[in-house]
Amino acid sequence: MASLSNAFSSLPNTPRMPALFVGHGSPMNAILDNEYSRSWRAIGESLPTPKAILCVSAHWMTRGATLVHIGQSPRTIHDFGGFPPELFAQQYKAPGAPDFAQATIELLEASHAHSDERWGLDHGAWSVLIQMFPKAEIPVYQLSLDLSKGLVDHFKLAQEIKALREKGVLVIGSGNVVHNLRMMSMDGVTPDWSREFDAYMADAIGSRDIGKVLDAGSLGRTAALAHPTVEHFLPILYPLGMMAEDDEVRFFNDTFDLGSISMRSFVLS
Ligand code: ZN
Repeated sequence: MASLSNAFSSLPNTPRMPALFVGHGSPMNAILDNEYSRSWRAIGESLPTPKAILCVSAHWMTRGATLVHIGQSPRTIHDFGGFPPELFAQQYKAPGAPDFAQATIELLEASHAHSDERWGLDHGAWSVLIQMFPKAEIPVYQLSLDLSKGLVDHFKLAQEIKALREKGVLVIGSGNVVHNLRMMSMDGVTPDWSREFDAYMADAIGSRDIGKVLDAGSLGRTAALAHPTVEHFLPILYPLGMMAEDDEVRFFNDTFDLGSISMRSFVLS
C-alpha cells in the first residue's frame, strides 16, 4: 500500500495557517447575534482564507478508532433536541475535503486512522462555521475523538498532523474549557469551581505549558465538575498539539455562559 501514500506530498505548500480552539456552547449560537457569534464572524474575516478546514468536534465520539470523514458533500447533522425549528432548518453546505482527509489519514498511519463516509458536520462544527465562514465555500472535514485514548494520546495524535498547517488547513478544535450542562444557572452566576478550572486552563494555555494542560485532572473535584465527561475537553488538545515554536496565543470569548460553560477560545498564530 506504500505506493498509494502520496496524498500529503501532492498537496501544495502554503504559509502556515493559524490554529483555533473554539468554545461552541449552545447550538443557538449558530443563529443568534450575540457576543460569541460576533467574535466568530470577526475571526473568520481576520484569518487568511484556508484551503480546507479540519474540525475536531466534541460531538463526534468513536471508540477504538480515529475516523476521518472523506465525504464529498458532508451532511449537516442536527445532533440536539429541544431547540426551535429555525435551528433545525439550518444547513451548512460546504463541500467536503476528500483529498485533505486522505492526507490526514496518511499522516496518521502510526495511529491507524480510518476513512469514514457516514458522518458529516455535527453542530460542534457547523454551528461555529456558519458564523465564521458563512459563505460555506471552504471545504470542511472532521476527525473523530477516539474515547478509548487518553489525553496524552490525543495530544500526540494532533502532533502527527501538525504539518497540515503548512498545507493551508485551518484546524478548529471545538469543545468548551468548562462544560457542565447539569450545573447551568439561569441567573448567570459562575460557580467558584468553574472560574477555578477556567483560570487554571487560561494560565496553562497562555504560558504554553502542555504538561499543566495534560495534568488538569489533578484539580480533582474541580476538574470533575468542570468536565463530568471528557469530550468537550479533548478538542483543546488538537490546536495545542499542532502548536509551532513561535506561535503566539490569543484568547477571545473569555467569558462564561450560564455559569458552567466557559466560552474561552484561542487562536494560535
Ligand atoms: Zn457541545
